[in-house]
Amino acid sequence: MGFTMQRGIKYLTLLVFYFAFIANTLAQAPARGGPAQRSITDLGDGLYQVNTGAGVSAVFVFLVTDAGILIVDPPNPAIAEWLQDQLSSRFPDQDVVYVVESHYHWDHTRGAKTFADIASFIGHENLLKNLNASIAEAPPPGNTRDSNNDGLLSREEAQTGTLANFDAMDSNADNYLSQAELTADTVRPDIVFSDRLELNLGGKRVVLLWSQNRHTDDLIDVYFPDHGVLLASDYVWINRMCCNFQFDERPMRVWIESIKNLEALDFDILVNSHFDSGNKQDLIAFRHWLEDLANEVSTGIANGLSLAEIQASAKLDQYSGWAGYDNQLNSMIESAYYSLMLQ
Ligand SMILES: [Zn+2]
Repeated sequence: MGFTMQRGIKYLTLLVFYFAFIANTLAQAPARGGPAQRSITDLGDGLYQVNTGAGVSAVFVFLVTDAGILIVDPPNPAIAEWLQDQLSSRFPDQDVVYVVESHYHWDHTRGAKTFADIASFIGHENLLKNLNASIAEAPPPGNTRDSNNDGLLSREEAQTGTLANFDAMDSNADNYLSQAELTADTVRPDIVFSDRLELNLGGKRVVLLWSQNRHTDDLIDVYFPDHGVLLASDYVWINRMCCNFQFDERPMRVWIESIKNLEALDFDILVNSHFDSGNKQDLIAFRHWLEDLANEVSTGIANGLSLAEIQASAKLDQYSGWAGYDNQLNSMIESAYYSLMLQ
């Protein structure tokens, strides 16, 4: 091998490493034009995951095909406008043709209206009902409730994210939030379904699955069989305990059955609508955690223990490596306690 050829091979090797480094750096870098905490991750074959910020900030996906773009859950107007810029610079030949709205909660669907003139909107049939319901019938995420049943939320009634975003949603600045204000930028879907809807966009299948009353009665999970990706909506925490939400006043068995239904699907990548992504084993581990928690607490109830006594005795230390174990375990036991009392 001559000197020149050796140099040539070395140069080529360096070039390959250089481009691999650049590609890797780009994959990890925040998308251009957005605040540093926003990122777009390529999941392969036209499917992308968007992280919108730190902590509990919404996570969503979009699919780009030759027949157009489908977005699931653009969470608010600012992110929807940023996404629109990203899409038109990255995919100038494609338009947004579908927006899927996973459920009525403001933290996932307030970006939908940005695409109102160009896209068709898809959701569960109960989404229409919930958008017209009172706040008491269809409360915002978390533990915010219309305690005095006057049809409005005061600052005292609003909790967590609803309180943090109170001024952004109080469009008439009267210091109360109505259901109309909470859902002002959510679009009434043109296409609704009850159990399952399969779309084919540019040869790629998108399967919308009713979540069987987990979290809300209109919640859907989104399965991409050609990509081996499942977007599991609220709340499939991965290796995490969070938050004191009392299983949204649903029996824990409803949650467990819904997760089992998702386990039957064939997928490798699990994207959750908040926090980290994972794989199918993480989904199974989440269901095991719900079952272990339910068993521990129901045994305590059967033995006549109070909530405080169960909290003092239950360890569930096989989950000690999970995020939130040190400060969320008591809240989770309390949530399970009230959920199990519903059965
Ligand atoms: Zn929700």
